[in-house]
Amino acid sequence: MSFSCPHFRPDDEYCLRLKTDCVPGRPGCVVPGKTVFATPVAERIRLREEEKRQRAAENPPTQASRQKR
Ligand code: SF4
Repeated sequence: MSFSCPHFRPDDEYCLRLKTDCVPGRPGCVVPGKTVFATPVAERIRLREEEKRQRAAENPPTQASRQKR
């Protein structure tokens, strides 16, 4: 990411403000409204969700990680 946001947690690209994945420009984001993105925000949110689903399918939670929840 080429900008700085005080709400961004780089370890897992998480938004501490919105308590979800960081997708700049998503509703509630502090990135200025005039910022232009090459890909519309709805599409970037969809891609991010798809990535998460694929990662979860490739790395199913272990018994130990399920017990931590
Ligand atoms: S979604 Fe917006 S407010 Fe949240 S961390 Fe990303 S850039 Fe910052």
